[in-house]
Amino acid sequence: MALLETTAITKSYGDHEVLKGIDFAIEPGEVVAVIGPSGGGKSTFLRCLNLLETPSSGHVVFDGEDLLAPKVDLDRLRSRMGMVFQQFNLFPNMTALKNVMLPQMDVLKLSKQEAETRALKLLEKVGMTSRAQIYPNRLSGGQKQRVAIARAVAMNPKVMLFDEPTSALDPEVVSDVLDVMAGLASDGMTMVVVTHEMGFARKVADRVVFIDGGKIVADLPPDVFFSDANTSPRIQAFLDKVL
Ligand code: ADP
Ligand code: MG
Repeated sequence: MALLETTAITKSYGDHEVLKGIDFAIEPGEVVAVIGPSGGGKSTFLRCLNLLETPSSGHVVFDGEDLLAPKVDLDRLRSRMGMVFQQFNLFPNMTALKNVMLPQMDVLKLSKQEAETRALKLLEKVGMTSRAQIYPNRLSGGQKQRVAIARAVAMNPKVMLFDEPTSALDPEVVSDVLDVMAGLASDGMTMVVVTHEMGFARKVADRVVFIDGGKIVADLPPDVFFSDANTSPRIQAFLDKVL
């Protein structure tokens, strides 16, 4: 059964229909790369998955629960869906370690000691042990993003949503972040990743979803998507630009 599924979701801002009926499902342990031209609706789609945006119509079902039903506990829901943004959104007044500890104490209600032990383990996993006591303004973009990933993973989410996590980074640190994400994927994390990194989509994703004009235009395994068998002119034009 799908862990997360959308049926015919639409989203309009005024009379501008940004999503035009998206059917999507992801199984536990799957990694889906979402790609497509700017303005096509990728971020809006991702934000509809965890209700940062409310779809105008359609259904979102997560772990058997209808998210658009009345009385859904949004805080509980979001604690089970990790989200990593282009901008890292770390707490600026806290060290890397405290950034990873705090939500565990606030949301998971772990003790300070437990939160610290887990945070140190996660910082090690993302290669940030030596920076644990450093404040965000002294970290590089790539380091901040790795802390942000550790902080999201610390909540034990069932799925991780990434919105262009490497787009704001200097080119030389992009691979550090992609390596951390590939590691998460191989640990079995379910992931939806909006990205322009075609190498990542090709190597790590189980499926590539192409969104353009508010619709899913293709949903294919990467070897098929990136092969010559893919003859859609829209997709080809996009790939010619990014590859
Ligand atoms: P992508 O992430 O693929 O670049 P977005 O989902 O950010 O695309 O945007 C899709 C379209 O929706 C764009 O035309 C954008 O201007 C519009 N849009 C996104 N968010 C809003 C908003 N809050 N209000 C009005 N229009 C929006
Ligand atoms: Mg976007």
